[in-house]
Amino acid sequence: MDHKDVIIIGGGAAGFFAAINIAESNPDLQVSILEKSSKVLQKVKVSGGGRCNVTHACFDPKDLVSYYPRGEKELLGPFHSFMTGDTIEWFEKKGIELKVEEDLRMFPVTNSSQTIIDCFQSSAEKAGVEILLNQNVHHIKIAEKGFEIETKTGRFRSEKLLITTGGNSKMWELIKGLNHTIVDPVPSLFTFKIKDELLQNIPGISVPNALISIKNSKYSAQGPVLVTHWGLSGPAVLKLSSLAALELADKDYDFEIALNWINSTKEETDERLWQYKKQNPKKKVGIRSPYSEISRRLWENMLTRAHVDRDQNWSDLSKKHIESLSLVLTETSLSVKGKTTFKEEFVTAGGVDLKEINFKRFESRLHSNLYFAGEVLNIDGLTGGFNFQNAWTGGYIAARAISTI
Ligand SMILES: Cc1cc2nc3c(=O)[nH]c(=O)nc-3n(C[C@H](O)[C@H](O)[C@H](O)COP(=O)(O)OP(=O)(O)OC[C@H]3O[C@@H](n4cnc5c(N)ncnc54)[C@H](O)[C@@H]3O)c2cc1C
Repeated sequence: MDHKDVIIIGGGAAGFFAAINIAESNPDLQVSILEKSSKVLQKVKVSGGGRCNVTHACFDPKDLVSYYPRGEKELLGPFHSFMTGDTIEWFEKKGIELKVEEDLRMFPVTNSSQTIIDCFQSSAEKAGVEILLNQNVHHIKIAEKGFEIETKTGRFRSEKLLITTGGNSKMWELIKGLNHTIVDPVPSLFTFKIKDELLQNIPGISVPNALISIKNSKYSAQGPVLVTHWGLSGPAVLKLSSLAALELADKDYDFEIALNWINSTKEETDERLWQYKKQNPKKKVGIRSPYSEISRRLWENMLTRAHVDRDQNWSDLSKKHIESLSLVLTETSLSVKGKTTFKEEFVTAGGVDLKEINFKRFESRLHSNLYFAGEVLNIDGLTGGFNFQNAWTGGYIAARAISTI
């Protein structure tokens, strides 16, 4: 049996961040990462469309937690110890500059996730972290003084164990074997499959500020919406998929949404349309929409949906026409039948029950010296760098607890 001081299962974002922090702050500890595949940091590699959205430029812990549909309450304390500013500083100390984009997402200035991978790999090597590849952990036992861990080719023993295996079902089964509760995993951050004439032939068209709600539920989200070949995507859709992840899984992704394309009330819209009609009596309805944010092609589809002839003049529109147009603009009903993956980022909602974790240390409340960080916990955020921030924060705090013997 191979004896180590600290074993980290999972060579991903949280695992590497923790390993480097432990080894740097306590060089006396032998830190080993057991990674099941032949390569580490594979999700970091593909993250943010290959650019790695490291964090989000939000600097108030109370604001930051509001981006986590699961973990909001539990992350507040940890963010007071380590959050965005600390992440930026941590990377800066390693010579990596991050930049903020207009939507507040933060990326390495190189626009390449390889920069983050290189940083982690060289820092781990420098700090003496041992990385053992092709070590798929299939057995964990609580021993008298620590843990016994088995892979196909190795048997290990460690005093402290940190599990950072992300959204991995087999590992959740092993964790259940340690008497921890696992909240059933379901996908989060996905786009909606919709077949509807209104969305036909206009992929690529977007609106900047829509309000999208799931009918007969409390869930709604505001922001840009993008029409795709298969339905709807964009920040508001992704946000809604995250907020309602559990409920939508329950419905087997078969549900109705109401889309307010202009995020305006029906009354305001009625008024605007009547005013437009008054001011532009001789204009053809199909020429352009009274709303600059509604592109002509989308407007044409809206006219069809509202049974309004695009060659009519505005002066010819009846009260019924205005009413139907106003309804299409503010209350379009669409049937969602399925989901598709958002390629830039997706996560799993569910994981180790947060009630069983001491968030001052990211340590199990059931077994001392057993720690969890990252997506293995029932924590997930919206798209925009929040999921990595969770991995950095958990990795850092677990590392601090582990390295202070
Ligand atoms: C395509 C994509 C793009 C993304 N982009 C972003 C982004 O830009 N910004 C952002 O904030 N978030 C992003 N995310 C989410 C983010 O990648 C995850 O939240 C984050 O990687 C979680 O870190 P982690 O360390 O918990 O898990 P991971 O990074 O998934 O690491 C888990 C590691 O554990 C290993 N492992 C699993 N089981 C075992 C086992 N039994 N034995 C040994 N090893 C095991 C895995 O092989 C893996 O290496 C993206 C996700 C995806 C899928």
